[in-house]
Amino acid sequence: QQDTLSTAAASAVFSHPSPDKTVAVEFRQVSKAFGHHEVIRNVDLQVASGEVVAVCGPSGSGKSTLIRLINQLETVSGGEILIDQQPTRNLSGAALRQLRTHIGFVFQQFNLYAHLTAQDNVSLALIKVHGWKKSEAREKALALLTRVGLRDKALHYPEQLSGGQQQRVAIARALVTDPNIILFDEPTSALDPEMIGEVLLVMQELAKSGITMIVVTHEMSFAREIADRVIFMDGGEILEQAAPEEFFLRPKHPRAQRFLQKVL
Ligand code: ADP
Ligand code: MG
Repeated sequence: QQDTLSTAAASAVFSHPSPDKTVAVEFRQVSKAFGHHEVIRNVDLQVASGEVVAVCGPSGSGKSTLIRLINQLETVSGGEILIDQQPTRNLSGAALRQLRTHIGFVFQQFNLYAHLTAQDNVSLALIKVHGWKKSEAREKALALLTRVGLRDKALHYPEQLSGGQQQRVAIARALVTDPNIILFDEPTSALDPEMIGEVLLVMQELAKSGITMIVVTHEMSFAREIADRVIFMDGGEILEQAAPEEFFLRPKHPRAQRFLQKVL
């Protein structure tokens, strides 16, 4: 009985961030269909500014689509998404660039440009999109590479870097426009096991910096130790959300229980 009550209280708190915290990302009854296939169903979600959210769930449950909707790599079929309380429907041109400046994205497969050095991968958007001088953009890129522990690799090309190093370059690149929000789509899933730690370490540092993070991950250690909240998705719906200790110790939804039995 005691447990049930505290669980209910916890999820009430976590699904409604306290009013003094600004809401960085809000989904209002968001749906997304590809053709007739609805892959996100009436999702309501609020992520507070500075919050670190881990999104987990089985393959095909809609996790990637959920975060791709946030920076409009996909567009909603229904409902709306607000970023810093601003509606984001049908943005294009300068408004869309502005949104993407505000939201970093890190992909599973790094997506670095093979013909550019680490430093030029990081500085590219500043030069091409924001009109920075090359020298100043490179200087900022170097500072960010230093932050992810890769100062000495600045002039290396992606093929000269390990997977873990490439992903750290991709994180530096996602930070180059000083976003307030950063989205990660399974950032460690393509890495050899011995390289996962170095990427998680950078993400842990980032989490402390106060940036809002939404991380799709199968890395339960990240969810457990770094996230403020865990979201469990299946079938395009958020079936459960709770503080990590609550979610891992006492998952409530049978599908969350089954999922955890498999991954833990
Ligand atoms: P997850 O990241 O949880 O594995 P996704 O968001 O990638 O799930 O996919 C959810 C569902 O949407 C899957 O059934 C997938 O096949 C489908 N889907 C994703 N992207 C597309 C697309 N561009 N076109 C058609 N179907 C898609
Ligand atoms: Mg995915």
